[in-house]
Amino acid sequence: MPTDSNPSGLRRLSAGDLAISRRMTRRNTLLPPPGSRPPGRPAAGDPGSRRDAIEGPPQIVRLACPDCNGQGWLPAAPGALPDEPGFGRLEPCRCTVARWEEDRQQLRAERMAEELPWEGWTAAFATFQRARAPECFDAARDWANGILDEPFLYLWGGTGSGKSHLGYAAYHRLLERHEEVMWRNVPVLITRLFELGRDKSDPSAFRLAFEDVLRVRFLILDDLGAEYGTAFVADRLYQILNERYANYRPTFITSNLTPEQLDGRLRSRLCDAERCREAWNASPDFRVLDPVARRTTEAR
Ligand SMILES: [Zn+2]
Repeated sequence: MPTDSNPSGLRRLSAGDLAISRRMTRRNTLLPPPGSRPPGRPAAGDPGSRRDAIEGPPQIVRLACPDCNGQGWLPAAPGALPDEPGFGRLEPCRCTVARWEEDRQQLRAERMAEELPWEGWTAAFATFQRARAPECFDAARDWANGILDEPFLYLWGGTGSGKSHLGYAAYHRLLERHEEVMWRNVPVLITRLFELGRDKSDPSAFRLAFEDVLRVRFLILDDLGAEYGTAFVADRLYQILNERYANYRPTFITSNLTPEQLDGRLRSRLCDAERCREAWNASPDFRVLDPVARRTTEAR
């Protein structure tokens, strides 16, 4: 939005924007945006064409949008006089909105490929049979939609009972909602933090990685276990959960363990019914059911 100190209404560029613009450059050299003019017929007055002629071969072949003539922005109130509302204000053209959405999707796909194992890429609430574990399903869905009463969700059950699937599904739902979310497998996270903590050459690396987990808006921790080897690791894990607990930060944990089997300090956090919803997934191991039982389960 335009303000006195920022009359154009544009925000300052960040490192993330640079990454986006590099990607867009790459993409725009290959594909014209949808609805653009055919090549060889540049729009009259295209501001890019003169600069391109001076600077040599263009890096970006962005064909002008017919609505905004390639400017990306349109007057909010065309023809408004200086004392009329909306005068001088710009709003994004539909080509800009479409590009933002495309970039968001691209970022989403990249983050997902970075964070989730292969099996999680396509896991969604729509592909989980709610009848297998209705209570877990509803709690996970509500948590991901930000409407669960408690900030913490502790989902426990046997191997293959589908709790990881619900964690992945929650992750996808949060990305769709444009929320800040992080998914971590606990053993992998702990190993990573331990390695960073031992590496004395870059002390800030550990602190940054650790704080990311503490502060991210939504955190999904898959496969919390009992054994974490060293006191260092147990302390870090406790610190993460304690800090998030104290600040009501939404945290979704899956585990094979009942809350009673957890380390005492974690247990006191995860057994607080006011702040932690606990759901038990009693569903049998879906991966080892025989084909007949599996069909019956699917049909339910
Ligand atoms: Zn446009």
